[in-house]
Amino acid sequence: MSNSPVQVNLDFVINPSYYENMTKEYITHDSKETQELGKILAEELRGGEVICLSGDLGAGKTTFTQGLLKGLGVKGPYTSPTFLIIKQYHIAPDMKRKTNTKKILKVPWHRFYDIYHIDAYRVGAEDVSNLGWQEIISTDKNVTIIEWADRVRDIIPSDALWINFKWLDEKKRKIIFNSK
Ligand code: ADP
Ligand code: MG
Repeated sequence: MSNSPVQVNLDFVINPSYYENMTKEYITHDSKETQELGKILAEELRGGEVICLSGDLGAGKTTFTQGLLKGLGVKGPYTSPTFLIIKQYHIAPDMKRKTNTKKILKVPWHRFYDIYHIDAYRVGAEDVSNLGWQEIISTDKNVTIIEWADRVRDIIPSDALWINFKWLDEKKRKIIFNSK
């Protein structure tokens, strides 16, 4: 797979095999494009994923998460969990979701029910563990999104999807997907 940055093409779909040994890089040119990338990822999730976001303050982690939550059919507002540490969103099992291409997904939408959005900026691995981390990530009805995951690396499973955000300039961000 190519390691060179590619432009975000909204028709582009992240390969469903992203969970196996993947590195992909994108450049986004405004926050909307970063959200679109999150939406595209949302369409690929099947439940049980741990999505680890890393990168400096202002790099786009929360912006990406907003697109991801939107793509999953979660109704806003999607405030950052920075002061709450964890936010849980419940998705009704029979809920239909619109895909990026505006088609209704044919697959039954009951694979997962709960989305957890964690912000580990101010906490350590022990604090996250105490939230019931092991149970959350080992349930395939859950999708877990964790910002500042690199700060609690010890508790991240090896099959997690890592997404690193790099500030290039005022509007440009490099977003790198990595999985083992
Ligand atoms: P983080 O959660 O990593 O601290 P945020 O998503 O909260 O970052 O903030 C990113 C900021 O950068 C927002 O104010 C957003 O509007 C701005 N921004 C500008 N260009 C982009 C881009 N291409 N992708 C994401 N955010 C961008
Ligand atoms: Mg944030």
